[in-house]
Amino acid sequence: MPDIIQLLSDDLANKIAAGEVVVRPAAVVKELLENAIDAGATEIQLFIKEGGKSLIQVNDNGSGMSATDARMSFERHATSKIKTIDDLFAINTMGFRGEALASIAAVAKVELKTRLKDEALGTKIVIEGSELITQEPCQCAQGTSITVKSLFYNVPARRKFLKSKSTETRHILEEFQRVALAYPEIKMLLFNDEKETYHLPEQTLQKRIAQLFGKRNQERIVPVHEQTDIVSVSGFIGKPEFAKKSKSEQYFFVNNRFIKSGYLNHAVFKAYQDYINPKEYPLYVLNLTLNPENIDINVHPSKHEVKFEDEQNVYTIVSAAVRHALSKFSVTPTLDFETDPTFNRHEFFNRPKGEQAVIDNKTSKQGSATFLQRQGTNDAPTKNWQELYQLSDEEDKQIREIAQQQQPISSHFHQSKVSLKQINFRYILMEEDDGFLLIDQRRAHQRVIYESLLISLQSNGFPSQKLLFPETITINAQQFENFKANKALFNQLGFELEDFGQNTIIAHASPADLQIHNIEEFIETLLTELAEPDSNSAQEPFQVIAKHLALYGAIRYGQQLTNEEMQAVVQQLFQCEQPNYGIRKDKTYIRYNHNELNKAFSL
Ligand code: ADP
Ligand code: MG
Repeated sequence: MPDIIQLLSDDLANKIAAGEVVVRPAAVVKELLENAIDAGATEIQLFIKEGGKSLIQVNDNGSGMSATDARMSFERHATSKIKTIDDLFAINTMGFRGEALASIAAVAKVELKTRLKDEALGTKIVIEGSELITQEPCQCAQGTSITVKSLFYNVPARRKFLKSKSTETRHILEEFQRVALAYPEIKMLLFNDEKETYHLPEQTLQKRIAQLFGKRNQERIVPVHEQTDIVSVSGFIGKPEFAKKSKSEQYFFVNNRFIKSGYLNHAVFKAYQDYINPKEYPLYVLNLTLNPENIDINVHPSKHEVKFEDEQNVYTIVSAAVRHALSKFSVTPTLDFETDPTFNRHEFFNRPKGEQAVIDNKTSKQGSATFLQRQGTNDAPTKNWQELYQLSDEEDKQIREIAQQQQPISSHFHQSKVSLKQINFRYILMEEDDGFLLIDQRRAHQRVIYESLLISLQSNGFPSQKLLFPETITINAQQFENFKANKALFNQLGFELEDFGQNTIIAHASPADLQIHNIEEFIETLLTELAEPDSNSAQEPFQVIAKHLALYGAIRYGQQLTNEEMQAVVQQLFQCEQPNYGIRKDKTYIRYNHNELNKAFSL
């Protein structure tokens, strides 16, 4: 038998590699934009024609390359970004495989012009199908300009598989947007068939989001900023009421690299689930920063997937960061908890058993803002926060002291009652230093009941009270199935219900704290509601029950309130985790400030 193994020719090897890296024009765009970023560019221009099929050009004002490097850059496995195996685990550049330019040059006609800052002349290289056509000195701008023409001209099978111009253009726009969102500090221009499609100046992330997704978004997003030892989360999220029917405005980045992650997406969803309807998707642009050693971006050639060493904790932190931002900012347009110290809802009293203080404190290394947050048991499949932060007793003490000094709004109420007035038997007027709030009495009370029930339902449950006369309740088969499935929950609520068979249950006790006038009707409604898969699909049974009880038990409109009652509702509202929204994601209050009033009265 003759020997049969041969080395592939460079040309063939490059074409095979190109099959992985360069799947379509958008992939070329991605690689070229990433190279420009790695080169430290502060301005990048992208030109495309025919959906990138006839032309893709990227100009940057980055470092540029020497004549030798320019030639080298087209060799396979040629990279300036890693030298040793250790570098591979500490990557902070976008590229590192050293394959992109070689792959692109294997399947297209490429022209490179590049000049180092201190050189008078630059280098021009033309390569077609991996073959060097010319290399010569040239006059050119500092930085690098790469032109890719006739993509797949020598791989007809691939060229045939390219989609329509508009589809390929959409993919390119998507790549451009990802980079633009990850690097708002870089000026970016896009010309599509010679028309300027985007002109993005160096700007804040908030402005960039608004420019990419529409100006109205600027008021519809709130910042996220959370720093922990494991990961920092920053970016913007959309207010729940502006959630969309499509997922097109959801972006995760890890160390500025766009990634797709169903897992992290779920962490965000968890944080939103009480505020948006099923099949609605909030906007988010979140960047996770963590030590490159703790992630593996090597898993996929397009680098869209990342493995986290500490996946569960990252999940928890992302979810909590979003929740925190929602509770801090997702409010009526003018309310700003950041600048209003009296709105610090962080409190220690009335904290039922099983609830944990979540702490990210000034005393921690990164010096981020203090925040304490309730941690329900349903939150994330992971460890609790105290383990995450590993506070020493000393730190814990300090934090508690700081928190006490901060005078949460609730203690503020204890000391000096705020003056409140009921209006139209519907709203509660509350004066503040620079304006006033109008609080919807029913929605506020619903929120209060809902949150306190969630906590009790998940911890100790409710006390129950024996009925003088046990009540027989007959329900339909479906409701009966629901009853059997949720028996434990009813016990938690304080019911004592006996399964009598034949779609019949007998109530021996009912919740001591709830005034339920018609037990049969109450249980029936609850069982029906638990069965509605549509409206409650994203909710746990105890959430459905808490919601139901809140709707059922809250103060009505038209009900006159005593001063004590108003004080209690308002005080408890601002102890809630989400005081800004009622349980149907409607506003619980509106704030007017004096400036607005003065404006309204001026001519
Ligand atoms: P990688 O980015 O993985 O290193 P590439 O094939 O994309 O591999 O690029 C090869 C090398 O060429 C890079 O490591 C870099 O040194 C150089 N290079 C590519 N594009 C540019 C650019 N726009 N500006 C400066 N240097 C560049
Ligand atoms: Mg690269």
